[in-house]
Amino acid sequence: MNCVGCNLHACEGKHVLPNCPSALTGSDKIVEEYRKEQNAVLARVSSEVSMSRNGKKTRMEEIMEVAHGCGYQRLGLCFCMGLFREAQIVHHILEQNGFEVVGIVCKTGGVPKEALGIENGGNAMCNPIGQAYYLNEHHTEFNIALGLCVGHDSLFFRYSDAPVTVFAAKDKVLGHNPLACIYTLEGYYEDKLLPK
Ligand code: SF4
Repeated sequence: MNCVGCNLHACEGKHVLPNCPSALTGSDKIVEEYRKEQNAVLARVSSEVSMSRNGKKTRMEEIMEVAHGCGYQRLGLCFCMGLFREAQIVHHILEQNGFEVVGIVCKTGGVPKEALGIENGGNAMCNPIGQAYYLNEHHTEFNIALGLCVGHDSLFFRYSDAPVTVFAAKDKVLGHNPLACIYTLEGYYEDKLLPK
């Protein structure tokens, strides 16, 4: 069974069907992982926040609520240079709400793209591993990704010691709302996204 093709959603009702991914994902071994110290609080608080006043809180509010609930005081803000102004505003909001914030931009390190074998690369390369290292060095407890490029975000997730949440996913065409092409697929994006 593939969850994408499933119309039963038995897992939502806490049932396990034959040949269903739930047989693996609901195992004692997985549940035990949630009980580990580094996961237990985050798992519980995330569920509580997502359940509470569903649909009435912005993602910005939910990020702060999760951070407060988990007792995270020092936050990392890992952002794209193209969203510098937005990062300043997010930084301000977080500080006003009592957090200590360490901000780090994607171009940090000033490493030329030639280091990646890209000739005439123009400005410095994005440096998500450097961003992660910097936040790791500052012992941030929870990192917020703001507008990182596809793939650069993957490297940041891989190297970040602290758990990461995404505030905004970069989409330069759709105002950083990538789902817009899904919602308007039939009208505008069908030819581009569903090659015949
Ligand atoms: S886990 Fe099982 S029941 Fe749940 S959506 Fe996937 S296939 Fe369906």
